[in-house]
Amino acid sequence: MVNSGLRQLSVSEINVRLYIAKGGYNLSLEIDLIIIGGGVAGLSAAIQGAKLGLETMILERKNVGGKAIDAYVIKDYPGLTQISGAKLISNMKKQALENGVRIKELEEALKIDAFNDKTRVISSKDIYFVKSIIIATGGRYKKLGVPGEEEFIGKGVFHSITSSGLSFKGKNVAVVGCGDIAVLNALTLANLDANVYLICSENKLQVIDVLRRKVLRSKIKVLLNTNVISIDGDSFVRKITLFDKEINKTIELEIDGVFVALGIEPESDIAKQIGVSIDKNGYIVVDKKQRTNIPGIFAAGNVTNGILKVAVSIGEGATAAISAYEYIKGVKVYGKN
Ligand SMILES: Cc1cc2nc3c(=O)[nH]c(=O)nc-3n(C[C@H](O)[C@H](O)[C@H](O)COP(=O)(O)OP(=O)(O)OC[C@H]3O[C@@H](n4cnc5c(N)ncnc54)[C@H](O)[C@@H]3O)c2cc1C
Repeated sequence: MVNSGLRQLSVSEINVRLYIAKGGYNLSLEIDLIIIGGGVAGLSAAIQGAKLGLETMILERKNVGGKAIDAYVIKDYPGLTQISGAKLISNMKKQALENGVRIKELEEALKIDAFNDKTRVISSKDIYFVKSIIIATGGRYKKLGVPGEEEFIGKGVFHSITSSGLSFKGKNVAVVGCGDIAVLNALTLANLDANVYLICSENKLQVIDVLRRKVLRSKIKVLLNTNVISIDGDSFVRKITLFDKEINKTIELEIDGVFVALGIEPESDIAKQIGVSIDKNGYIVVDKKQRTNIPGIFAAGNVTNGILKVAVSIGEGATAAISAYEYIKGVKVYGKN
């Protein structure tokens, strides 16, 4: 899968060699499929992989769930008229475990490389030799990059409603962003009786008409063409300073919470390190079967595209697992290449 070439051995590689010399590693004992990332794409891939009979393991640096945990309520997943992200994840985790998937939480995949002609994944806790890999590392929340943002993270600055753990009923909150996640957060907060300002730097919300109409019908105050200058407070956020580009004026709002919802950027670093093709926006390039340019390495979910839909990530995860099966077994089970 990965060509190691000639290079100097790192400390961890020397340790591995010593370990093997002592009989510690058995290179013939490879795991069929390692999935890096336990969001919906990774969990879906794991369920499919295990159902196909592959020995399957998930490495998740936090707890499984990813961004879906931050979705207060999901209303567009086929077959489930309404479900919280947390409930969907707990169902998927249960299903994965029941099918024999080994889920390693709080274990980060640090590197993929080759060793003695075998591919391995080096994690924060162990080293695994693998036949194939699915990268389902999703994305990270984009930052505003203004004074106060980092300082008040968790103290009034949040990336999701679920992570805030607070009630904003009757309080002033600012949601920053112009896209789907910003609007969904704003609508949820308005439904929870918060007094919501939706602050968008562009002249139009970048959402589908249905969402735009929902915002118009709500009590949300939309401030277009407005940039955030800074976030201030004491032990908690108290104020947000804005610049209205239309009237060239600085505005200050007393605020109890700021939700930064600027979208998500792909977490493709681990793929980049081993030469997986990445596009100009940082997404892993895959074909229709979720194959990357490196045989045996597949990718699925938000790390391959900016489509923030659970249904899409789940479909891609399942496809990637089927492709991994075809790769490992050397067969074409489902359709043409
Ligand atoms: C507020 C909000 C509301 C939403 N509402 C909806 C909705 O109503 N309907 C809908 O369809 N979609 C919705 N979405 C979008 C949806 O949640 C995402 O598109 C989907 O969850 C992405 O899943 P993923 O598995 O591709 O990536 P992620 O969920 O980002 O999962 C990636 C996982 O990989 C892990 N990881 C990353 N790097 C490593 C590493 N090196 N080692 C180990 N683990 C690693 C991360 O910790 C993470 O758990 C919403 C999203 C948000 C934020």
